[in-house]
Amino acid sequence: MYRSHNCGELNATNINEEVTLAGWVQKSRDKGFIVWIDLRDRYGITQLVFDEERTSKDMLQQAQNLGREYVIQVKGTVIERASKNPNIATGDIEILVSELNILNEALLPPFTIEDKTDGGEDIRMKYRYLDIRRNPVKDSLIFRHKVTQEVRNYLSKEGFIEVETPYLIKSTPEGARDFVVPSRMNEGQFYALPQSPQTFKQLLMVGGMDKYFQIVKCFRDEDLRADRQPEFTQIDCEMAFIEQEDILNAFEGLTRHLLKEVNGVDIEKFPRMLYDDAMRLYGNDKPDIRFGMAFGELNAVAQHKDFGVFNNAELVVGIAVPGGNSYTRKEIDKLIDWIKRPQVGALGMVYCRCNDDGTFKSSVDKFYNQDDLAKWAEVTNAKAGDLICVLSGDTNKVRTQLSALRMELAERLGLRKPDEFAPLWVMDFPLLEWDEETERYHAMHHPFTSPKPGQLELLKTNPGDVKANAYDLVLNGNEIGGGSIRIHDKETQSLMFDYLGFTPEEAKAQFGFLMDAFQYGAPPHGGLAFGLDRLVAILGGQETIRDFIAFPKNNSGRDIMIDAPAPIDDEQLTELSLKLNLKS
Ligand code: ASP
Repeated sequence: MYRSHNCGELNATNINEEVTLAGWVQKSRDKGFIVWIDLRDRYGITQLVFDEERTSKDMLQQAQNLGREYVIQVKGTVIERASKNPNIATGDIEILVSELNILNEALLPPFTIEDKTDGGEDIRMKYRYLDIRRNPVKDSLIFRHKVTQEVRNYLSKEGFIEVETPYLIKSTPEGARDFVVPSRMNEGQFYALPQSPQTFKQLLMVGGMDKYFQIVKCFRDEDLRADRQPEFTQIDCEMAFIEQEDILNAFEGLTRHLLKEVNGVDIEKFPRMLYDDAMRLYGNDKPDIRFGMAFGELNAVAQHKDFGVFNNAELVVGIAVPGGNSYTRKEIDKLIDWIKRPQVGALGMVYCRCNDDGTFKSSVDKFYNQDDLAKWAEVTNAKAGDLICVLSGDTNKVRTQLSALRMELAERLGLRKPDEFAPLWVMDFPLLEWDEETERYHAMHHPFTSPKPGQLELLKTNPGDVKANAYDLVLNGNEIGGGSIRIHDKETQSLMFDYLGFTPEEAKAQFGFLMDAFQYGAPPHGGLAFGLDRLVAILGGQETIRDFIAFPKNNSGRDIMIDAPAPIDDEQLTELSLKLNLKS
């Protein structure tokens, strides 16, 4: 028996018991005639004591030679500590050691295994197994386990069946590039790793599974923006014989359950917002509604004066920054510099101070009088003491820029509180999205998404205006889930592929199996998928997902611990009938 107890469970009620513990040496304090060692495992820390009188001299010496992170086993007696530590569960006791076994020695770790470590990100990723010993990472993984357990409990209770779908498949169009795997047995042919199990879960509905879920890895070969991973986990779900309302209710239920069980937060009904309104009011399809600062469109009250910049703009739009009138001129100039950075790209910013005495002072006083500015304040909902920030230009660009400013200011003002939760459904996304690069429409969600009833005709004349039965679940300004009601008949699906620029042959080659299945009695169906990594991070009060993933990849998609990706040898290439044609 390696241990009778773990390192987090002994307390005053165990005094005088003989115990056996095993774990890692966290640190030692050596006073010459007495040595204390903190022994650590997943469950906590227990203090060990060795001294020349009560234990043997030999053992004291052995204890003095133990290095950090040595793996040891001790037998001893639980005794009361002279000086207690109220900060840890085992703080009232220590173990007077009578037997010490070194189970394994350890090299000095390249960073300290402490909550606040001296190790930078790269070194911690290289020695991730050491990083996992630290509480912040360990606790995040345990937290993730709790969330996934709750997901499984809830969905199983609701009648969902977890079904595994294959990883070696054919392309699923979720808008990213596929990771491909060469097939040795089928020369010159490749599998694609799933960007999601989308087509399979639809086939499970045709197969009559009715309610499906899966906690599943997905793979997307994208340029990695900050805090994305090439492989990530979804809670993937699908239901048959449902309408949009059923889906929203089912997964609002799941999210409510998680908020309650994991965070102790009760949220009654999740608000809903149309995509068009989200864009108009927040410039963003995933608005953070923990705070206000909604956009006010100022065209009607700011155009047709003599200010050419506004007159020539497609959109003039502002936000009221709470308490912003306290900013000095210098601070406002800095804000303008911030918004002009290439990452945001605004050309400039007009502002208006809302003074406590009810007067206004703007950066364009030459063109606007007090009555005009009072209207700006009304439209942006600005109060005395606020600062109105106004941007103008091309609608889409300006919305994106003002949204970035809104988020930045909210961050600075401490309005994005991690322990506050504001879920929101964003609904009726456009079906198609224009892609400047390829000069074509793409499916905004994916090509299996159904248009809103009665909008099929509009596809021919105004494709960009067609709305879809597609929805996202947003939590604190992050998209945590998204899905749609699917097309479930062959004709509409072929029409859709046609609009998306697939020839009938291409559509057949890529998705013939799905269209075939639709001819064998496909029920109406729909679903959604949650991004589990992000969901867990947000529930955990954080916005970066890495600590919630045991073995994450870095920003270049590398696992620097195992050093992957890596070249394969010639023999393996030959076996796969592959020849390299490297660019560099
Ligand atoms: N497959 C979709 C995605 O990965 C989710 C869905 O439509 O259910 O975003």
